[in-house]
Amino acid sequence: MTLSEKVIALDAGHGMGTAGKRCLKSIDPNQTREWFLNDRIADMVEAELAAYFCRVVRAGDTTGARDVPRSSRVKTANTAKADIYISIHHNAGINGGNGGGVTVHYYASGKADRKAKAQRLYTAVVGKNHLAGNRSQKVVPSSGLYVLKHTSMPALLLENGFMDSQVDTPIILTREHAEKTAQGITAFLVDELQLARRVDKPVEDVTDKAVHLGTYYRAYTGKPTTLSAALTSLGINSTYTFRKQIAAANDIRGYVGTAAQNTEMYNLLRAGLLKRV
Ligand SMILES: [Zn+2]
Repeated sequence: MTLSEKVIALDAGHGMGTAGKRCLKSIDPNQTREWFLNDRIADMVEAELAAYFCRVVRAGDTTGARDVPRSSRVKTANTAKADIYISIHHNAGINGGNGGGVTVHYYASGKADRKAKAQRLYTAVVGKNHLAGNRSQKVVPSSGLYVLKHTSMPALLLENGFMDSQVDTPIILTREHAEKTAQGITAFLVDELQLARRVDKPVEDVTDKAVHLGTYYRAYTGKPTTLSAALTSLGINSTYTFRKQIAAANDIRGYVGTAAQNTEMYNLLRAGLLKRV
């Protein structure tokens, strides 16, 4: 590490089991957890940033098992002397309505440049994922968001669409949306911190690689079927022993192959959110 190497703190917010933080059941029967959506994007940003001279610090538990307190997340970033802190979230508050869209939050009482940074992140993300929505205020000053207030570096919080909007929810569940969002965040960071490329390769190559070698199995998009048949169709080992390993990797504890456990894994696979082993 050189003295000038930039440090980026990525925070995927919450934990897998955090109460409430999930998609609205009437729109997404799987009630996909917010942590999954946040973490999927954070993983993709981290993979893309591997092509640049910088260091990524993950504030929080990247397995999702623990909802790390916000004070610990902040401490991780402050201790690492991060140059910027990006907190990735998905919003709620529309109650099954049609509105929504991306917003970026910054600490209102912070330095004067925060609003401009927030605006640049918003522009970079929406320029890629096109989820502009209908919020009257897209770049939002905040005085109460803990991580924005207590980090010693510039911090921005992205609310990347609504988990209870009929418009946003089907979009934010897709891998494409996550990829585009990650590309927007990465482009913002590269520009903001003037990151130099490590390798002389097009960004697209790196992105493809991140997806193919990524954290999740490819989504099952075929006709409704059993977990085993869906796994087999994707060329994934579907034996009981291997399913047990997949279950463990996805924090499905004490896997014995019950219908409920298989359904949970099947739903994750359909959403493209089943973690690889
Ligand atoms: Zn959140």
